[in-house]
Amino acid sequence: MESDLTLLIIIFFAFALTVFLIIRKLIINSKMTPEEKVKVKKVKAEKKAAIEADRIKSHETYLRSIEQQSVINNYGNIYPEIICPHCQKKGYVHVKQVTNKKGVSGGKATAALLTGGISLLATGLSRKEQGSQAHCDNCSMTWSF
Ligand SMILES: [Zn+2]
Repeated sequence: MESDLTLLIIIFFAFALTVFLIIRKLIINSKMTPEEKVKVKKVKAEKKAAIEADRIKSHETYLRSIEQQSVINNYGNIYPEIICPHCQKKGYVHVKQVTNKKGVSGGKATAALLTGGISLLATGLSRKEQGSQAHCDNCSMTWSF
């Protein structure tokens, strides 16, 4: 069978290549002085350690960026010029514009009664108030102004 023969040849070459690589490595190893062997081992270990350190560093950077992003999402961007009124540190304060929904004001409810609800359609019952919320990363205080 021709296909069996092809398979056998492929297996034979793969085997031959593996043996060749092993022998080559053995020859290179035997030619190296013990000092060179130690050096190669050291370089390998250093490479491994560098890769590991890189991995840890990039993971830490990733975690920090996620943490920062969630803080920015929650409290807005950092304004480097603002000094925290609680801990007096500069560069830790986030500021975010917030809308506080206030309930129905007495005046509006009365006006609604008098005009038969027309003014309610125009202005709505609840009043929205724009404000700013600040948060300090250093002392973890959150306040409005
Ligand atoms: Zn603070």
